[in-house]
Amino acid sequence: MSGLEMNRIRHAFGNDMVLDDVSLVAGPGKLTCLLGPSGCGKTTLLRLAAGLESLQQGQVAIQGVTVADGASGFSVAPEKRDVGLMFQDYALFPHLNVFENIAFGIENLSPERRQWIKDSLEHMGLSHHTYNYPHTLSGGQQQRVALLRALAPEPGVLLLDEPFSGLDVTRRAQVREEALTFLKQSGVAVMMVTHDPEEAMFMADHIVIMNEGRVVQAGTPVQTYFHPVSAFVTELFGPVNRCRGTVTDGQAKTQLGTFDAPGFENGTEIVVMLRPEAILISPSGEDVPAKKGTHFISGRVDSTHPLGSSSHLHIIIDDGNGGEQVLHVRTPGISLPAVGSSVNVSADMTNAFIFPAD
Ligand code: ATP
Repeated sequence: MSGLEMNRIRHAFGNDMVLDDVSLVAGPGKLTCLLGPSGCGKTTLLRLAAGLESLQQGQVAIQGVTVADGASGFSVAPEKRDVGLMFQDYALFPHLNVFENIAFGIENLSPERRQWIKDSLEHMGLSHHTYNYPHTLSGGQQQRVALLRALAPEPGVLLLDEPFSGLDVTRRAQVREEALTFLKQSGVAVMMVTHDPEEAMFMADHIVIMNEGRVVQAGTPVQTYFHPVSAFVTELFGPVNRCRGTVTDGQAKTQLGTFDAPGFENGTEIVVMLRPEAILISPSGEDVPAKKGTHFISGRVDSTHPLGSSSHLHIIIDDGNGGEQVLHVRTPGISLPAVGSSVNVSADMTNAFIFPAD
């Protein structure tokens, strides 16, 4: 198997177990994202793959060859591992120009590799900076040079740690789009660390979700977003509305209607999780064509926040226990109901995730 394989990795710093039986594969021509909250062990895993941290348990293989084995203590030096690295604080060499920075790691600068550097700079819109020094480049331009520097020695595996986090929102979107096209064309196996779910959704072929040193779900962006296996994974992608209920004959009644809850025993306390786009609103009193089984309740608009392509609303509903609950709602467009007005609220039952209440 080419690309990167990590098998049954365990790692502790002192008595703190920070990676607990982690296995993953990052295949060639694919971008694999490690996604998870701060401190869950993403960077440590990347450092173990690179050989920057010594492996305690498990195996690492690159391009089908074992490069580290915890049991025997075997370890290939980082520079011999066929990996390219780019960290968040990538530092370009200030005394080398753009071309020299990219060429730095290439052992034999053949005419073909020279041409590759020139073509790549052209592709990244940087050819007019070929002989400029890093301090004359913008942050986004430096980031692109750092990426080319990591790719220049033609590694089989590229390891990226939060490579775009230093950039502002607009520039980040542009640089990561360009980088993605470029990486796809190169055919390298990429493992990228991020804690930004949108970035993972945008870039990844495969997302490995981690929590407290363990892999809790792995799959395509669509699988992880639309079929989360736990409340933790559901909430990792953004704010979620929660409604509690108790299961009776495969159904759970909540303040937002009755949801199918197959597979749960009678009497099980469950939580229904609904993303903001799964809460539907319509003006109060309007005759809305409803799907069979749709349950409308009354809500009051607490605040509206137009975001451009969509809007975020806070809607207050009765929580079913004499109190109030604030729902996060995302609607397309900017034509919004007035703050304080009444609305009909319903849930998209097909887009609800049900888990046992914790
Ligand atoms: P972030 O998203 O904040 O970068 P992360 O998921 O990459 O976090 P790691 O940097 O891998 O997490 O850290 C995992 C855990 O290991 C954390 O609790 C961290 O404090 C601890 N840790 C990391 N490096 C060391 C070290 N050299 N010595 C001791 N503890 C460490």
